[in-house]
Amino acid sequence: MIDYKELAELLFPDVTMTPEDVEKMYPPRNVPEGAVISRAAPSPTGFVHLGNLIQALTSERMCHQSGGTLFLRVEDTDAKREVPGAIDTLIDYLGIYGIHFDEGVTKGEDVGIYGPYRQRRRVDIYHVFAKKLTAEGKAYPCFCTEEELAAMHEKQEAEKANYGYFGKWAVWRDRPMEDIKAELEKGKPWVLRFRSTGSIENKIKFTDLIKGQLELTENDIDHVLLKSDGIPTYHFAHAVDDRFMYTTHVVRDDSWLSTLPFHIQLFQALGWKHPKYLHIGPLMKMDGESKRKLSKRKDPELALKYYRQNGFPTQSVYEYLLTVLNSNFEDWRRANPDAPTDDFKFSYKKMNPAGSLFDEAKLCDVSKNVISRMSAEKVYDEVLSWSEEFDAEFSEVLKNNKDTALKAFAIGRGGKKPRKDLTLWSDAKGYMGFFFDEIFTLEDAYPDNFHKSDIKTALTQFCETYDEADEQQVWFDKIKAIAENIGFCTDMKAYKAEPEKYKGSIADVSMFLRVAVTGKMNSPDMFEVMRILGKDKVIERINKMTEVL
Ligand code: GLU
Repeated sequence: MIDYKELAELLFPDVTMTPEDVEKMYPPRNVPEGAVISRAAPSPTGFVHLGNLIQALTSERMCHQSGGTLFLRVEDTDAKREVPGAIDTLIDYLGIYGIHFDEGVTKGEDVGIYGPYRQRRRVDIYHVFAKKLTAEGKAYPCFCTEEELAAMHEKQEAEKANYGYFGKWAVWRDRPMEDIKAELEKGKPWVLRFRSTGSIENKIKFTDLIKGQLELTENDIDHVLLKSDGIPTYHFAHAVDDRFMYTTHVVRDDSWLSTLPFHIQLFQALGWKHPKYLHIGPLMKMDGESKRKLSKRKDPELALKYYRQNGFPTQSVYEYLLTVLNSNFEDWRRANPDAPTDDFKFSYKKMNPAGSLFDEAKLCDVSKNVISRMSAEKVYDEVLSWSEEFDAEFSEVLKNNKDTALKAFAIGRGGKKPRKDLTLWSDAKGYMGFFFDEIFTLEDAYPDNFHKSDIKTALTQFCETYDEADEQQVWFDKIKAIAENIGFCTDMKAYKAEPEKYKGSIADVSMFLRVAVTGKMNSPDMFEVMRILGKDKVIERINKMTEVL
């Protein structure tokens, strides 16, 4: 029998701290009964995606609705994947969506007494427990080289055996002390492996808060706990960190479900109670007839960057995700059109265990509604902020003409049935850019089926009769009169029944004016548009049009 204590000393001669010391360093949190302590634990790869947001949003709601604590831990154990600036990017992106952390990594120093919150700075802590597991015979060093492991894998393939380091393949599991010492003396690199006592013949019962009751196969693999540079793997760091940061609920992607039996074993081996788990199903999309997971490679809409660049309001993306995650959110929103989303009672119980379907058309629909509920000031600020980053020319125009822009954004806003003209901030220029001479262009031409002389007459008569002081009905009656003068039908019902009887309709006369004034076939309410532009500008544009006709 190997002397495990001696082995632990041999492998970790410099570790003097004891598990009790670590316990003392991190006293239990003083939180109210039922408060959720959870975290976002991203790797700093620089790629921030919808999955990160869904994870963080779920944790954030659970923590803050229960009076608990949300912290940010950076899982930087894989230095190769780390991208400079990734942490700031992540904090910024989540911050935009209203996800703020109470504790953990910040853009400056870490905040909180359970740190450090970046895993590479916690190596001393992991080693205390690596040493403990070794001293108890629950972990052992393995000196296999990459080549040896690759050869093992090939052999397993040839023998149609299960893959992995277990059973007869676990060649360092029961090696005598002399062999270990000999390798150490040669300075050979080693990893620390977990000594699994599980068997794939056994099942474990487990309740995941999203997936429900699960029966999982026990883990029989001697997984790596510490890599050869002494840095822990995700699994080991997860157990140690979530234990000493007092995480009550681990919310993570369901790709971790396959290693959950190992995590449970690890907590048991360390003598700790494991936290509750919520494994979130994947985000999928329709690809032809079938569903598939959103992929980083194929789907730009997976990245949060996509939404900012394309001008999706953050509030729209946020509300859309709530719609996707909690099926009752839509009804709640309908009943509470003006309430802040934080008033909605988010519940993990409503999350679909199989994952959610991402549908951009639906997101756009949500977005129209979200923008329609905003004030003109808010829309102005948001469009300006978006344009400053993505359309410098338009942002200048907005800044120089703030009053007009505010009036333009106010058209059809407020009231019971607000207009839904905008889906994206990037729509704003096309929607109301014509107000500004700097960017006004004649985008649409008159259809060929009208006589130029009729159009000209209509435009001229309008200029002759236009009075800015007219009420909307008077204004409209004047247009009607013009329609009659040029032989266009003023009754839409009659026109639709027998269109061939007329040269056109009152709607066409409005269109003549619309194209002249806005340059486009579609625009916000013409009466309002003209009021905002002012008589001089209206007449100037119509006159210009009669000249070029
Ligand atoms: N670093 C892991 C990931 O990004 C975190 C998983 C977890 O939340 O535990 O997937």
